[in-house]
Amino acid sequence: MNPKIPVIRVGDVLELKKPHPCGEKRFVCRRVGSDIRIICLGCGRDLTIPREKLEKSIKKIISASSSNGSEA
Ligand SMILES: [Zn+2]
Repeated sequence: MNPKIPVIRVGDVLELKKPHPCGEKRFVCRRVGSDIRIICLGCGRDLTIPREKLEKSIKKIISASSSNGSEA
């Protein structure tokens, strides 16, 4: 496995390096393919981004399956 390539699954929350214009940096993944569809948690707008481009802009993936993803 290559740790540089993040595994994105439907339902995961992605924290991106660049925030949405509304100020929110977290997005929920709704569809995974050659393009990835994400929904902004701040304003609810959905975006479709090519996987290659999205992978580069991910800061952190908060997996939906982990019971405790908090690092605080
Ligand atoms: Zn937004």
